[in-house]
Amino acid sequence: MRFEKALTYDDVLLTPRYSQIRSRQEINIGNALDTNIWLDTPIISSPMDTVTEGEMAYAMGSHGGLGVIHRYNDIDEQAGLVRALYESFKEANTITDPAIAAAIGVTGRFLTRAISLYENGANILCIDVAHGHHILVKEAIEKIKTELGNDIHLMAGNVATLEAFNDLADWGADSIRCNIGGGSICSTRVQTGHGRPGLQTIFDCAQTDRDVKIIADGGIRTSGDMVKALAAGADFVMLGSMLAGTEETPGTKYEDGSGNLFKKYRGMASKDAQVTWRGNYSSDEGVSTQVPYKGPVEPILKDIVNGIRSGFSYSGARDILELQTRAQFVLQTNAGLQESGTHILSR
Ligand code: IMP
Repeated sequence: MRFEKALTYDDVLLTPRYSQIRSRQEINIGNALDTNIWLDTPIISSPMDTVTEGEMAYAMGSHGGLGVIHRYNDIDEQAGLVRALYESFKEANTITDPAIAAAIGVTGRFLTRAISLYENGANILCIDVAHGHHILVKEAIEKIKTELGNDIHLMAGNVATLEAFNDLADWGADSIRCNIGGGSICSTRVQTGHGRPGLQTIFDCAQTDRDVKIIADGGIRTSGDMVKALAAGADFVMLGSMLAGTEETPGTKYEDGSGNLFKKYRGMASKDAQVTWRGNYSSDEGVSTQVPYKGPVEPILKDIVNGIRSGFSYSGARDILELQTRAQFVLQTNAGLQESGTHILSR
């Protein structure tokens, strides 16, 4: 038996450092996902059926990020969303070579889906399974590489350890979603007893010597969490709940009888989601809930970006690499955590 201590977002803070940055405009928070794919904003929206379809992917792309179109639909429907996204980007003419990402699974007709998505304009495929350190993922990567070569960027996951990260990298993943069980709508840790605190997974995976990008996924609630994830070694963050409830998410808004508007947000392994996409459920590892309707995603993304830039400035960092070099984490106690949140109302 092995027992280790592991940290997550609320356990730590970044120490403010001497800064020579005069304006936040000097800060570059962009990052390369691949040699030919650059994102001005290191934020990716999650492939969930209450987060990312065409509208969200378009909004994310237009603001320098990336949206991964979920796979909980039939192949033609998903390929149609990818095609439409490709054509809307082309029409808008804002992005010459748009990054278009779509998710696939590892069973059934996943290879047909992968080929169809690729043929309709996807240049990033996300192998989207809960436990990525798995033989089915290894075989899926091999089959996709055989079929589509190295032209396509392969995002895969999720993983919770450095060993898993390195294995997925060696199997051919180009970027890896890191964190198991940390999502806001996730009940994996409750149901199965498995997982690792999210920020620890980033610290661990950042020890890799493979040239593969780290995506911090799940449990990110604030721009402060994003700065911590990037400082700990992530290249990108993936968001579900922070984007849930916005206009661009799939699904309709509804009133709850008291005049407030809501939208649905659900885990893709929740009973609700499983019943929708395959008619029955087994081992539900997520919950289905509603979140307040938040309006368009643009102001939310702008707030996040401003928060991240400000965070870089406190560390005196001009870019992600500098942030990771300069980052000094401290552990905080429960009293520290209380002090870290606004607390006037509790007096
Ligand atoms: P959030 O940003 O904390 O809301 O977490 C979103 C992430 O939770 C997604 O990107 C997935 O990695 C993960 N996730 C989505 N659905 C489920 C589920 O049903 N169970 C466990 N994890 C999930």
